[in-house]
Amino acid sequence: MQPDAIESISEAADAARGGDAPAFPIGRGRKLRCRGWRQEGLLRMLENTLANGERPQDLIIYAGTGKVARNWECFHAIVRALRNLADDETLVIQSGKPVAVFRTSERAPRVLAANTNLVGKWATWEHFRELEGRGLIMYGQYTAGTWAYIGSQGILQGTYETFAAAGARTGSGTLAGHIVLTAGLGGMGGAQPLAVKMAGGVCIAVEVDRARAERRLQSGYCDAIVDDPVEAIRLAKQATATREPLGIALIGNAAELFGRLRELGLEPTAVTDQTSAHDPLNGYVPIGVSAADAEALRARDPKRYVERSLASMARHVEAMLAYQADGAITFEYGNYLRGHALEAGVANANDIPGFVPLFVRPGFCRGRGPFRWVCLSGDPADLKATDEAVLRRLPADERLRTWMKMAHAHVPIQGLPARTCWLALGERDQVGLMFNRMVSKGELAGPIAMSRDHLDAGSVAQPSRETEGMQDGSDAVADWPLLNALLNTANGADLVTIHQGAGSGMGGSISAGMTVIADGTDSAAERIARALFADPAIGVVRHADAGYEIARQARAAAGLADPMRLD
Ligand code: NAD
Repeated sequence: MQPDAIESISEAADAARGGDAPAFPIGRGRKLRCRGWRQEGLLRMLENTLANGERPQDLIIYAGTGKVARNWECFHAIVRALRNLADDETLVIQSGKPVAVFRTSERAPRVLAANTNLVGKWATWEHFRELEGRGLIMYGQYTAGTWAYIGSQGILQGTYETFAAAGARTGSGTLAGHIVLTAGLGGMGGAQPLAVKMAGGVCIAVEVDRARAERRLQSGYCDAIVDDPVEAIRLAKQATATREPLGIALIGNAAELFGRLRELGLEPTAVTDQTSAHDPLNGYVPIGVSAADAEALRARDPKRYVERSLASMARHVEAMLAYQADGAITFEYGNYLRGHALEAGVANANDIPGFVPLFVRPGFCRGRGPFRWVCLSGDPADLKATDEAVLRRLPADERLRTWMKMAHAHVPIQGLPARTCWLALGERDQVGLMFNRMVSKGELAGPIAMSRDHLDAGSVAQPSRETEGMQDGSDAVADWPLLNALLNTANGADLVTIHQGAGSGMGGSISAGMTVIADGTDSAAERIARALFADPAIGVVRHADAGYEIARQARAAAGLADPMRLD
């Protein structure tokens, strides 16, 4: 697809720069502001991430302080650099700050970024914050620093799959007629009430910040907001009696209310949590502190704030352990809550399992993970056409079909039309090539950007989540995500990133992100075929290497020879 025109000024940068009330527009249509669709596509992904963020005015996208760029000056410089970037140049970004443009080649990535990476011994929140305060680093989380955030939908499907898997463990095989207790209605956690409903159940989600709950109510991700735990239980029991799915936000502190709800007789079938417990200073809110007062308290006495957070997390986890002892399916949802509770003295915090070994790993062994695509034209008709094409391409995938049906009914378009669905090794490259052909034949109004979460088969080492309890004990081996990023670079993905510290906080993980743009060209087809194959394939290899039989079979089926076994 050829550029129609090149605009001299970035609308996004201008809008964000000027005026008291910053707007966060996203480029749409066929009009290019950059020198090619690969650069323009990445610029739109950047804008889309910002526009969908939790606090875009501060460049904060989700998970406490996950940012898209280091500061506004850096954001504008990135936009300028993307506008001017030639088809054989690569923009290099260090923790949200553009630092250089190199002449590389047309087949190389257009953007390479490294976010939040600190040398092992120095990877502490204390040191990170000192550097952050001096403007030397930023917290990139997963899809914030990879410019691949698509709002709550991104996590909705994964969350739906998790709760559906929890439902499969109930006597009836579904969550219908069951209550799920959780907390946190932020950028990611906000998907929980709707995901539980999609799995048939009733959700009580405790949230300390009323504004967050109201946002979820407005977007249709939850149905009711209550302040009284007694009322929350009454509503939940009423709904389970008639097997009606329902999403209830209960305003208050989870560390306090989890125990209180149990005292009041709540008997949830599943218990989890998605408060931003990974960050005891800028994420979690301790007991006795309102969302409004948290900011001032953090600034006034950060040390005391962290102490109070850790003590609250201990109480929070003790309540979860009590529910577990009652027989509830209890799991940590990847926010390092157990780790902090352990620090605060809850010796058996790890009796609560993580959600990956419990529900997700068998899929990882087949390279199945959170693939997503974004329609860069902004035209909802492109989403409809691509959704239908994917369903035609994978007719036997029942889970995909169910998800798509529910997504059409429940997922509003946020920013650029986007879809996430978990695809396995061999499916992602085929779907990517199909999209590229659709663009080339003019069946779509614009190119498609394909990306994924970092929570994927081969793109992360995080011993408290994705790589928890690996069969061979290799949980903390971080060579795999680095190899993933190197492979994606070698294969010419359009953007490749390496991150540290997401999810479980500083020192807790190393991960990699990638985006590739289907602009309908032969060059895109070649790069898509290679990158979207190798990206999940290194995940299959990682799991096969750890001894998982499903992964060994998937590796053999994909024709990926093992150099250790070659004659
Ligand atoms: P967020 O910062 O956008 O939202 C966190 C929410 O928790 C906020 O609304 C906050 O008000 C609320 N909160 C904080 N302390 C609370 C308390 N004590 N009681 C009740 N509510 C409280 O974060 P997010 O993007 O929603 O992510 C939440 C957590 O989940 C993070 O730790 C993140 O790393 C983790 N996460 C996990 C996965 C996964 O794979 N499951 C994916 C993404 C994020």
